[in-house]
Amino acid sequence: MEKVVSLCKRRGFIFQSSEIYGGLASAWDYGPLGAELKRNVKNAWWKAVVHERDDMVGLDASILMHPQVWKASGHTDNFSDPFIKCSACSRYYRLDKVWDEITDSPWFASVKKMVERAKDMSDLLKWAQTNGKNLCPNLAVVKEPEVTISWLVDSKISWGRVVLNEKDFICRLATDSNGIARTPCPQCGNALPDKGVAANLMLKTYLGPVEDTADAVYLRPETAQGIFVNFLNILDTTHRKLPFGVAQIGKSFRNEITPGNYTFRTREFEQMEIEYFTHPAEAEKSHQEWIDQRFSWYIRLGMKKENLRLRPHGADELAHYAKGCTDIEYNFPFGWSELEGIANRTDFDLKQHSQHSGKDLRYQDLVTNERIFPFIIEPSGGVDRATLAFLVDAYHEETVNDATRVVLRLSKELAPIKVAVLPLLKKNDGIVELAKRIKKDLQKEFVTVYDDTAAIGKLYRRQDEVGTFFCVTVDVQSLEDTQVTVRDRDTMAQERIPIENLRKYLTEKFCGFN
Ligand code: ATP
Repeated sequence: MEKVVSLCKRRGFIFQSSEIYGGLASAWDYGPLGAELKRNVKNAWWKAVVHERDDMVGLDASILMHPQVWKASGHTDNFSDPFIKCSACSRYYRLDKVWDEITDSPWFASVKKMVERAKDMSDLLKWAQTNGKNLCPNLAVVKEPEVTISWLVDSKISWGRVVLNEKDFICRLATDSNGIARTPCPQCGNALPDKGVAANLMLKTYLGPVEDTADAVYLRPETAQGIFVNFLNILDTTHRKLPFGVAQIGKSFRNEITPGNYTFRTREFEQMEIEYFTHPAEAEKSHQEWIDQRFSWYIRLGMKKENLRLRPHGADELAHYAKGCTDIEYNFPFGWSELEGIANRTDFDLKQHSQHSGKDLRYQDLVTNERIFPFIIEPSGGVDRATLAFLVDAYHEETVNDATRVVLRLSKELAPIKVAVLPLLKKNDGIVELAKRIKKDLQKEFVTVYDDTAAIGKLYRRQDEVGTFFCVTVDVQSLEDTQVTVRDRDTMAQERIPIENLRKYLTEKFCGFN
């Protein structure tokens, strides 16, 4: 992950937001190459889910919507993640994620190592006085080792075999003065409160010049509601019959309690969402089709299949109205995490908006005259998460001539730059002029750059590490035989191609893409 983050900064994929002012936590800007990559991800999605299908249309709804939308959708009352705050280090944690953070923490790793080697309590005591003191100064066993260990004495610990993911053992290390085992803070070890506080995740703002609570509106936390409230408009203007879907890409905002993992979880992010309206009897079939379709989209764009998996939600994870949900997860360096969720939302959304707006949002079948609330299948993914996963998946290091070659093996569809034109000698006017002419010609068809700021070996390496598919090198001989060298990113094979055939040659190579 560190290598990808460093490459992204060094080569202009992703920058920290407001960096010259010290940065804004968990907010990121996409630089010149990142903007191209992200745009390619969105275009590939739009092509696959709108242009290549007969049953889909697009929408671009506004971020600000009538506050009643969020009342009807349930976001005003229920869109919250209970959180807890550490009274010692003032950090916030999502109640449902706190154990993930504990098991990821440096002090947990250190306890685990100690237990594996320990013979008895004296090793725990030693750990508390050394590593524990540095890593988690507020953990009870560190602050008051004798007292805390006395609570542990009667528990049957066979050292070396304590299974540390047993919350019990860890909570006992955080036992309070009343002898009650507590959940420790992942950062400092201090005992955390038992109960979470619910906080709405929607970001509030105001319309008009005066900050009046009556004018409060929210920055949308998802793009989906824009589709539901336009259901009738879309039906009336496109005369679609069931099943059909609406796709939308746009910014969403959530006041996340624990943003992090680079661009994986942020408070401002972009979503790619589909609401697919189908007859209730067909909903399960449509759900499965969308799961398959969306899973294969990532693979078609070059993601390694072994880094992807489907995770059906358990009954306890499902929203009360949902009939099923399956996540597509990616094996990020920080663990398997959600890229996209594909849910069967039943007829909940249209019913809710019918009720709250007083408008009849039922669909009328023109043949049978049947009026129904269609079921909705919702594939909902994040542009930023997909972009990050494509970057991580494409990052590749290999040894070539005893040197490390970094190459971003992005697919032809996603690579931010398709062709780089490089003059072998930047002081030779003839070569430079020809190279610039070739660049001008190619850029009509492919994203093309010209670079003469280093020697050729370095120029190749620079293009490899940003995933440029082909390098076209113009040399002295090109001036005589009107041919150039084309180098393939992945094989590093070089071919001499007549300049007049270059566009055709590259078009064939990119066939079907661009
Ligand atoms: P998580 O459980 O990770 O918070 P979620 O299940 O709440 O995600 P959804 O509401 O289903 O997410 O949103 C659909 C998609 O939007 C997610 O699969 C993810 O790709 C993206 N997404 C959601 N929240 C964020 C965020 N804070 N930052 C970046 N992307 C996000």
